[in-house]
Amino acid sequence: MATKKFLLDESRIPERWYNIAADLKSPPPPPLHPGTHEPIGPEALAPLFPMELIKQEVSSERYIPVPDEVREIYRLWRPTPLIRATALEKALDTPAHIYYKYEGVSPSGSHKPNTAVAQAYYNKQEGVKRIATETGAGQWGSSLAFACSKFGIESKVYMVKISYDQKPYRRSLMQLWGSSVVASPSEDTNAGRQVLAADPESNGSLGIAISEAVEDAAMREDTKYSLGSVLNHVLLHQTVIGQEAIEQMEMAGEYPDVVIGCAGGGSNAAGLMFPFLKEKLEGKRKTRFVAVEPASCPSLTMGEYRYDFGDTAGLTPLMKMYTLGHTFMPPGIHAGGLRYHAMAPMLCHLYSEGYIEAKSYPQNPCFEAAVLFAQTEGIVAAPESSHAIRGAIDEALAAKEAGQKRTIIFNLSGHGFLDLQAYDDYLGGKLIDDHYPAEKVAEAMKSLPVI
Ligand SMILES: *Cc1c(COP(=O)(O)O)cnc(C)c1O
Repeated sequence: MATKKFLLDESRIPERWYNIAADLKSPPPPPLHPGTHEPIGPEALAPLFPMELIKQEVSSERYIPVPDEVREIYRLWRPTPLIRATALEKALDTPAHIYYKYEGVSPSGSHKPNTAVAQAYYNKQEGVKRIATETGAGQWGSSLAFACSKFGIESKVYMVKISYDQKPYRRSLMQLWGSSVVASPSEDTNAGRQVLAADPESNGSLGIAISEAVEDAAMREDTKYSLGSVLNHVLLHQTVIGQEAIEQMEMAGEYPDVVIGCAGGGSNAAGLMFPFLKEKLEGKRKTRFVAVEPASCPSLTMGEYRYDFGDTAGLTPLMKMYTLGHTFMPPGIHAGGLRYHAMAPMLCHLYSEGYIEAKSYPQNPCFEAAVLFAQTEGIVAAPESSHAIRGAIDEALAAKEAGQKRTIIFNLSGHGFLDLQAYDDYLGGKLIDDHYPAEKVAEAMKSLPVI
């Protein structure tokens, strides 16, 4: 009988990251300069990022070594467990086998330290003293705060106002790891002051917070910027998840038919999917890949594949993404980490070529899935991860319907111990199911640059 938990052997922490750019049949459309609309070179990113990360951003090397110092910190929680959800399978009475890769065991409780530690390391190597960043629900901010504390770097976090108010403990976590945290929109930047002038009650958005952090980094010699998702180098660092999962699935004697991840900016989904996708790109496998997003922020399922800014103020390079428009103001759903207006260009490229499918769900069915998961598997999932659980349960139910054995793996990207207010609201019947209106997408498309 296969054991439920697989061996956690630190020699199995991957020694390299997998770069899917090396295996693409056609490269994704390049980022463009916001003014000239010409493709930008690596030097355009130099004020914001250390050179080594810029090289990774544009690299076409298949494998990039994980530095020893980074692996040493990964040892604190990696390899993460791969668990077969036998109790959930039983509750669903499904012939499907459901596995989940649990990233909630990291110090900040999500997959995000996989890249935060790598990014802090390269900044340290290049003499950077301070990092500015934004955070939505606080998972990225706390992950970066943790990583900066390991390398003795100062950090400043612009935290989306609604989360700052709703999730005070995420703020405490950042502060205990030494970050200085401010609610965004803030008075500390031009971008923030402009938004506040127009709407003093603004809830903020990830796009606004990005504008603030980018401006902070661009204005200060000692400061660089750091992004927790979307960019190629972030997705690259997350591939430790999928590489470990491939080995662990081998130990279980299985290979997935379906790989599922929730998608905000696309990094945890890509981190699990890309190493498996490599084998599909090589023509060896027919694996399906499903990205699950909230119905209230449906960039893949309702957005248009257009060049758009990464932030609200229009300071970033233009990237080709499925986008709801950079002016998107998300409703205050609990899955704060899934409220970005667009999606990683690399994931969008693969989606546009048909390698990845996408699905969207409103929050109630996701919490319903997460409650069943907690009652069977015992883990209280992050509201973001509940989307992946919903996706996996529906795949398992479809397998039952079809009388098929189907092997499913999903990324349980984080735990929900700091999101109990969300569960409380769900259990109290207070959650509203928003569907983002198509008219709003059409309206926002008018503010996109014409390329
Ligand atoms: C941030 C976050 C996400 C969404 O970000 P991606 O880049 O799409 O992975 C999902 N789950 C958790 C737990 C998060 O913290």
